[in-house]
Amino acid sequence: MEPVKFTPPLYKQRYQFVKDLVEKHKPKKVADLGCGECSLLWQLKFCSSIEVLAGIDINEDVMKEKMHTLSPLPCEYLQPSWRPLVITLYQGSVVQKDPYLLGFDMITCIELIEHLEAEELAAFPDVVFGFLAPTMVVISTPNSEFNSLLPGVKLFRHLDHKFEWNKEEFKSWASDVAVCYGYTVEFTGVGKPPPGAEDVGFCTQIGIFVRDCVETADIVTYKMATDHVYKTIFKAVYPSLQDEKYLQYAVVSEVLYQAHRIKTSLWDGIKAKENGNNQCPEKEQCCWPSGHCVTFLRNLDLREHEKLTENRDIEPFIHGNAVCIPLEKLYLIPRVKQLCGTFAMLIKMITGKVALTIDGSSVVVSTDDGSE
Ligand code: SAM
Repeated sequence: MEPVKFTPPLYKQRYQFVKDLVEKHKPKKVADLGCGECSLLWQLKFCSSIEVLAGIDINEDVMKEKMHTLSPLPCEYLQPSWRPLVITLYQGSVVQKDPYLLGFDMITCIELIEHLEAEELAAFPDVVFGFLAPTMVVISTPNSEFNSLLPGVKLFRHLDHKFEWNKEEFKSWASDVAVCYGYTVEFTGVGKPPPGAEDVGFCTQIGIFVRDCVETADIVTYKMATDHVYKTIFKAVYPSLQDEKYLQYAVVSEVLYQAHRIKTSLWDGIKAKENGNNQCPEKEQCCWPSGHCVTFLRNLDLREHEKLTENRDIEPFIHGNAVCIPLEKLYLIPRVKQLCGTFAMLIKMITGKVALTIDGSSVVVSTDDGSE
């Protein structure tokens, strides 16, 4: 039989499998044990449900190679998302108990267990299923029955593998672990066998373990008191609109952008009108959105404007060398409303950051742009 070649490559199929599972179950806190070069973590940072991501590996150097890819990008500061996201990398062994990893919804162990020595493998279930006890555990490992279909594989697929299990061996280990720690396990995999070799099963076998019942708060509190053993080697706190500092920045930027946009379109209209007709505008039919005459409005002070517009007209108006845009008008813009939630919040966010009229009701944008 022809040696099998996977498209997309098998490792990408494994990552895709985890991503699909995350999209389906929407965990908030995900930890990847034996994260290696952080490739899966990098893909998971784009999953919108995840707010906390952690990676653990015994090999600090491997993790450090690409950990910078987990830092926020400049565009993520310019346009922060609503979702908070913290990514942390720890150096440590998966057979050490550390409370940093308590309370996670999903723990993934992709191509990890076959790298564990016999005594580590024996200690692994008590740490992951007994101590960390997440809602879901995903474990992938090579299916040794597939090896004969892979080019160049003699004993194991990798020099560092301590063992490789066939389907029955993995099922037996995983089922025992599930029963012992109160989980239900289902088996699947990625890397389909070629036609005619279906009995071999998937190239990568995967067990999905789901906790039968939640732990009591007492047990979690008790575990939290355990000493930390992991070394934190990387931490990235992503900018989020849930942080008032970033929300204020976003609101102020949006308000200034919208105010300038309104001012520009208004000012261009005025200049066009003035260039085309220099007669008294009061006698002309006015093209202002509010129906007010441009020149007339130019000479009004703010109080007069308010008197004129007794029901608080929300259209922009001219005051001296500035265009004043009522906050009510800005609040009607969907993006502004979405960011602020309430009109009171809009006022709170822009006060002291944006030039306002004396009564605080409008944003003031200067028309002194050199074209006057
Ligand atoms: N999960 C990653 C992936 O799929 O791309 C990397 C898998 S790599 C084959 C196995 C990783 O497990 C290595 O990075 C290795 O350093 C790590 N590892 C081995 N023994 C470990 C242990 N006791 N604790 C934590 N990580 C371990």
